[in-house]
Amino acid sequence: MNGILDINLQDFFYIVSAALFVFGLKMMQKSESARKGNLISAIGMLVAVITALLGSQILNWQWILLGLAIGSLIGALSSRLVAMTAMPEMVALFNGFGGMASLLVSWSAFHQLYTSGELATSPWNQMVIISLTLLIGGVTFTGSLIAWGKLSGKLTTRPVLFPGQNIVNFLILLALLTAILYLGPLQGVLLNYQNGILSPYSIFIIIMVLSGILGILSVIPIGGGDMPVVISLLNSYSGMAACAAGFVISNNVLIVSGALVGSSGIILTNIMCKAMNRSLTNVLFSGFGAASTGKRKNKDQQGEVKALSVEDAYYLLEAAASVVIVPGYGMAVAQAQHIVQEIAQLLEENGAEVDFAIHPVAGRMPGHMNVLLAEAKVPYDKLREMDDINPRIDQVDVAVVIGANDVVNPAARTDKDSPLYGMPVINVEKAKTVIVLKRSMNTGFAGIDNPLFYMDNTRMLFGDAKATLQALVSELKSK
Ligand code: NDP
Repeated sequence: MNGILDINLQDFFYIVSAALFVFGLKMMQKSESARKGNLISAIGMLVAVITALLGSQILNWQWILLGLAIGSLIGALSSRLVAMTAMPEMVALFNGFGGMASLLVSWSAFHQLYTSGELATSPWNQMVIISLTLLIGGVTFTGSLIAWGKLSGKLTTRPVLFPGQNIVNFLILLALLTAILYLGPLQGVLLNYQNGILSPYSIFIIIMVLSGILGILSVIPIGGGDMPVVISLLNSYSGMAACAAGFVISNNVLIVSGALVGSSGIILTNIMCKAMNRSLTNVLFSGFGAASTGKRKNKDQQGEVKALSVEDAYYLLEAAASVVIVPGYGMAVAQAQHIVQEIAQLLEENGAEVDFAIHPVAGRMPGHMNVLLAEAKVPYDKLREMDDINPRIDQVDVAVVIGANDVVNPAARTDKDSPLYGMPVINVEKAKTVIVLKRSMNTGFAGIDNPLFYMDNTRMLFGDAKATLQALVSELKSK
């Protein structure tokens, strides 16, 4: 059925929007062009939405306008009210809503077939697509809600494991595939399709419930330092769910955009796994640090903590010829990115060479540090990747760790019993002096103690990062 737009014109505009998505994504590869890339992709989405609305035979505009008004209001309010530090959990929620939207598309398509009496005669591949959309959408929705709970601290960030967990997950998956087979290729073969004990509608609801349970059970065993992988994986699932929903309603641009999100999410997942030196199966099925219990003291942790005053930190930095700044989640909490940029500038004016070392999983979402530092207008060429900094960190006079913890934990390299063992970290302890800015001796996201804080060349500068850096700026300006 077609609305105002002719079918050829509709496809033409879908191709335009797909091209805009691809160019937008390409531009997001670099910080300098990322903002423009985002805008271009958003324009692509606008073209797609308008084309879809004009190209379909809309029976009732009131519901669409109501949804548009409510959605825009929620979007505008959340962009104003949600704190920058709560962005990662918001992204997790968005993934979940994407999954829920696909689930609803699948449900509505199924309901329409059921009520019109066309279910028994509909092609089996159509039923498979509808069921798969339901499955992926359901897993994405509940899995993302658990990820949201973990990131926001409403649920434990530690992995939740129970005996036979993988077997239970496998059995649920098996039941789901059987149900999909029954609704699809085997309809009417195994049981009397319409009048059997389980009606097609009840099977459909069973798939929905089991998918939700599978989403919960597959995300609860993932915790601690492994969360970045699950965030990017759920992002990919939300794309796959949208792609499947595109097949359900025969909408080409939804298929293309879903496939783009799904594949870029998988690429990101791969990057995150590499950053943590773990395989995807290891992350998904083994439970982060499952063998360890609670906050363990590290073997090397017998040293003494040496606290530093702001004035002493000033003298160390003032005399340094090379400084590496390592930001982490604490910089986001303190909203210290602007003052970090100011310090870097002052140190450069003082003759020091200043670099920023960015760990791929620093913060709470992929690219978290890059986004904050770009907002503070730190030049892109000042940001160095971990593999670029590590080989020359022993020549650095002062490494300043600003609210980072797990990503600079040397136990990841030295302690085979540490849950972080094997994850590449920024080897700040090899710099001549390390200054760590944090508020206490508390652990980071993974809940692991950090031997760095007890090392001979480490000085702890306790306090909120922004307040401490502000005091340092005053020192640097006044002397
Ligand atoms: P961590 O969570 O390891 O450490 C952050 C540190 O910041 C804490 O130890 C905290 O110590 C300190 N801090 C908090 N608030 C402030 C403040 N106001 N001023 C100064 N310091 C502060 O962060 P990292 O960035 O080092 O590591 C990221 C962790 O998060 C990794 O385990 C990663 O796997 C995980 N993760 C990453 C995701 C991603 O996509 N990047 C997604 C989900 C999880 P104190 O309380 O003493 O101040």
